Amino acid sequence: MSDCIFCKIIAGEIPCKKIYEDDEMLAFYDLTPQAPVHFLLIPKKHIRNLMELEPGDIALSGRLLNKAQELAKELGCGEKGARFVINAKRDGGQTVDHLHLHILGGRQLIWPPG
Ligand code: 5GP
Ligand code: ZN
Repeated sequence: MSDCIFCKIIAGEIPCKKIYEDDEMLAFYDLTPQAPVHFLLIPKKHIRNLMELEPGDIALSGRLLNKAQELAKELGCGEKGARFVINAKRDGGQTVDHLHLHILGGRQLIWPPG
């Protein structure tokens, strides 16, 4: 998608602090971190949000979840834990319309969210 910020990051048109990349996903630090560890994991395929995930994306979603926990551990959250968040559409607080997981850790997070 030509006007999508995350597609531009994938294409290298907008810089990011990259953590991990392979053929189908990219992980990078969030621009406005909300915790000592806060990174985003996105599929390279432009899926607008979780509500638009299709049956053909099931295997990809599983690999994204697996990579999310793997990277969280690599970044030091294995023992104390982390929060894995997917905001979907307006009421969910989504501001970038390209599916992404937030991974937050490094401090005690409160629940419920505001
Ligand atoms: P959402 O609110 O859609 O769940 O989260 C979008 C996230 O993307 C926000 O936490 C925001 O800080 C992050 N973000 C927005 N634009 C950029 C950018 O250009 N680079 C990076 N690294 N993060 C961004
Ligand atoms: Zn996109």
